[in-house]
Amino acid sequence: MRPSILNSLFIPVENVPRVGLKLGRLVKALCGPCVSDVLWHLPSGVNHRPRIEKRQDIVFGQLGTLEIQVVSHISPPTHRQPYRIVCESLGETLELVFFNYRKSYLQTKYPPNQRLWVSGKIEPQGTGIKILHPDYIADSPDKIPVFEVIYPQSRGVTSKLLRRILSYVLPAVPELPEWLDAAFQAKNRLPFWTQALDEAHHPKTEQDLAPKNPARLRLAYDEILANQLALMLIRQQATRKKGVSIHPTGFLTQKLIASLPFQLTKAQQRVLIEIQQDLSSEAQMTRLLQGDVGSGKTIVALLSALSVIEDGFQAALMAPTDILARQHFAKIEDLCRPLGISVAILTAREKGAERNRILTELADGRIQLLIGTHALLTEQVSFHKLGLAIVDEQHKFGVNQRLALIQKQKGVNLLVMTATPIPRSLALTAYGDMDSSRLDEKPAGRQPIETSVMPISKIPELTERLCERIRTSPTKVQAYWICPLVEESEKTDLAAVKKRFSELQQVFGNRVGLVHGQMKGAEKDAVMEQFASGQLDILVATTVIEVGVDVKSATIMIIEQAERFGLAGLHQLRGRVGRGSDKSLCILMHGPHLTDTAKERLRIMRETDDGFVLAEEDLKLRGAGEILGTRQSGLPDFKMADISVQGDLLWTATKDAQTILSLDPKLESPRGKALRTLLYLFKKDTEIQTLKSG
Ligand code: ADP
Ligand code: MG
Repeated sequence: MRPSILNSLFIPVENVPRVGLKLGRLVKALCGPCVSDVLWHLPSGVNHRPRIEKRQDIVFGQLGTLEIQVVSHISPPTHRQPYRIVCESLGETLELVFFNYRKSYLQTKYPPNQRLWVSGKIEPQGTGIKILHPDYIADSPDKIPVFEVIYPQSRGVTSKLLRRILSYVLPAVPELPEWLDAAFQAKNRLPFWTQALDEAHHPKTEQDLAPKNPARLRLAYDEILANQLALMLIRQQATRKKGVSIHPTGFLTQKLIASLPFQLTKAQQRVLIEIQQDLSSEAQMTRLLQGDVGSGKTIVALLSALSVIEDGFQAALMAPTDILARQHFAKIEDLCRPLGISVAILTAREKGAERNRILTELADGRIQLLIGTHALLTEQVSFHKLGLAIVDEQHKFGVNQRLALIQKQKGVNLLVMTATPIPRSLALTAYGDMDSSRLDEKPAGRQPIETSVMPISKIPELTERLCERIRTSPTKVQAYWICPLVEESEKTDLAAVKKRFSELQQVFGNRVGLVHGQMKGAEKDAVMEQFASGQLDILVATTVIEVGVDVKSATIMIIEQAERFGLAGLHQLRGRVGRGSDKSLCILMHGPHLTDTAKERLRIMRETDDGFVLAEEDLKLRGAGEILGTRQSGLPDFKMADISVQGDLLWTATKDAQTILSLDPKLESPRGKALRTLLYLFKKDTEIQTLKSG
């Protein structure tokens, strides 16, 4: 049950004095149904109306409040001309000017000789001053605000109305038990909750509106904390579905590990244990494996597959493109042959008798590991005993596709792999239903990629240097040359790619290839294969090569119009190089007009090569929704927090919530109880069992 201390905050807006049903409906549409929702509707601006005591303090064009004495009224002969009231103020002539006036109203409001206070934008008028349509008139300056708060408005709900509602609501805000950690609060100088609300609704300068303002920071943090805590509680109490339980013996995985020319990284070993423990539990595994490009996800996937094969189950690996599926197949088959494991590939290209044979052997269990594209999802594909489904580069698949694969049989364990690291805090928010493993370590012996940034005007020099390097390098050097293709301007972009291709052809002749999204699958594959086999030195491409392709001697990555990509996209592209032991280069070319964000992105790209760091930075630079794709993101609509600029709060709040729950899983300590109030305050109670029972 909701604590009664919160009752006044849950009063419907129409019950606030002088609001009523009609206005209430409009306020609800703008802010939300109850008083607390109006409290979360924070100001977007502030007007300063200084009280002007001296002539020198007047700044023309700015707001000000002045004392006047009315002298005379000048009523124009026609209504089209303005009505003027001549006054005296600070020893000057001040005119009040009105269009579309009501004469009788003005005459009663401004009787001659009356001393009054008016406020408005002050302008010069002849030798004196004027105010066109004063915003306020009053008999005392105290009735005119010095700071006037502006709110996001809607039709029918003006800032004035919101200010009035808040003038009733704010004084009635109850004192609540403090839910913030005292040390955290002190360190960040965060005000108490009631004080924060009061300050946030009474800004005095533009700075008070900034996300870094302590009052705003506090409120944003409260909102995010409530959300993260609720997510964790929901997750804690969710009963996981029963899954196929697997008991790996280790005889295949041990053999494979022994046969590898390298040692598994610590991260690979740790993640493998996480996966194996999960596989052997009664519950169905749904696990997200995040690892930067080149962090060695494929081996982890294969070892996971072998773990289920050891126990007599089958495994399936689904990749987003034909090229990737074939690449996986080639590598994995090589590794599996000595183990006596039967591996098959199934894409749209396997047809007729070949396809039928695969389907039969899959159904009777002779094929132990199936690799393929979404062809795996078709109805005819049925397994004998599927224990694990692995989805590579999961962001290329929709949620439904990944579900379709595990629905092939009951309780199939799922491992999805992504090379686009999601900030930890967002992973929880957007993939709250999944466990998460991270490969946060690169295999030893990798050369760092040197990244540089240059303007597009340097292309002729760049081409020359590239030509020389390819010719003189003792080892084979290949380069990717990326030109973006953006949907909105696809035609002109495609033309630009083709133009670049023909320009490079003039220098490199038939050693240049071109791939773009509008080519047929087989055509594309043919060019890619030429590049992979070394027949081409340069591959001009749109972003079709983004995922997974692995060509070791490709050590140069040139990206044109780099400013048009997000951090994640740039990082993905850069990950295509640096795959061998030779040093790699990434050159980011940009156009003449760079926004601040674009500059910042390029700077970050130059500074770090760690996908997890980049993901966190990306979260700070862009909206979280943008990172995950607004639609399927499943991100809550924060009212006060703006995680595009307060992404760091998301991270802190997530850690905070984790600590709280590890110490006090049922929220029974004093702080835990205060946090319960917070959860109710943000209406998180409905989904959480702990709150209902506690
Ligand atoms: P990604 O995570 O991008 O899918 P891959 O699995 O394709 O990365 O691995 C990239 C390369 O690194 C492959 O050639 C793979 O054989 C190699 N590799 C994987 N693990 C290790 C390791 N522990 N030590 C050295 N090389 C490794
Ligand atoms: Mg991969």
